[in-house]
Amino acid sequence: MVCGRCQWWVVGSEVMETRTDDVGVAARPASLSPSRASDFMQCPLLYRFRVIDKLPEKPSEAATRGTLVHAVLERLFDAPATERTAPRAKALIPGQWERLREAKPELAELFADHDDDSDTSDGTGGADRAGERLARWLADAERLVERWFTLEDPTRLEPAERELFVEAELASGLKLRGIIDRVDVAPTGEVRIVDYKTGKAPRPEYAEGALFQMKFYALVVWRLKGLIPRRLQLVYLGSGDVITYDPVEADLQRVERKLLSLWDAIVRATETGEWRPRPTKLCGWCDHRAVCPEFGGTPPPYPLPVGPPESPGGEQGRMGAG
Ligand code: SF4
Repeated sequence: MVCGRCQWWVVGSEVMETRTDDVGVAARPASLSPSRASDFMQCPLLYRFRVIDKLPEKPSEAATRGTLVHAVLERLFDAPATERTAPRAKALIPGQWERLREAKPELAELFADHDDDSDTSDGTGGADRAGERLARWLADAERLVERWFTLEDPTRLEPAERELFVEAELASGLKLRGIIDRVDVAPTGEVRIVDYKTGKAPRPEYAEGALFQMKFYALVVWRLKGLIPRRLQLVYLGSGDVITYDPVEADLQRVERKLLSLWDAIVRATETGEWRPRPTKLCGWCDHRAVCPEFGGTPPPYPLPVGPPESPGGEQGRMGAG
């Protein structure tokens, strides 16, 4: 599929993998995105639940707010440069929220009033509380959008691409894919990759983990265009921080080696059905504790055929699983 807006390059031919559109339909992993690579590094069993079993997950207020803010920042660049103001951006929020709800009806659940309306005489207590929560949530989205204007000046930016789907196939056959929030190209041809985060910037000792996603994108750009992005930029709207990194070839080669070895491990687990849980404090946010052995649960039957393990670095491992 070629993105109609993409001027800078032609993108790959397959749609981005999703976790929600085909819930319950088991599938072999066919490519790697930064999010799914992070899932596997965090917990192999979590990766299985998301990519292979495609177990449903509840929408979260934080993630949905992130999606909303991203949509607003993307759409703001439709306006002429001088009109890209904070009031205009904030005015986009209700319409983008409406669009999001239409596209994903399950989001209605986020602010549903359920049956907790029995504690007021007129029975409107639950609805009021749901309305208040929605109002607070939208106000938080406004604050995040407003903060962006203290970090970047959109009147001085003309992105080459926004929400750009990219896919590159490595020499090994492994497909890497993802969506880049913004690509800026200087008159000199130098490329800057920008990603918005609605959370807070990590402490310096965790910055490397945050940059993994950006180096992943830089590798894809390098493999697609033959050029190394000049700068990677993470814009943290939650804390008002900007982290930048200027990658060099050795960085991207390192990331490529890491992804290849990660993919080998994913292929082995896919073949053997051995997906180990790796409990951490992040389990608190995991939607799958009820079926996780670490929490007394039993995973659903493994939905793929199981074979003997491949040798590490073997041909099948290198060429991907599907
Ligand atoms: S609860 Fe923790 S250990 Fe279990 S699948 Fe989720 S992240 Fe992995």
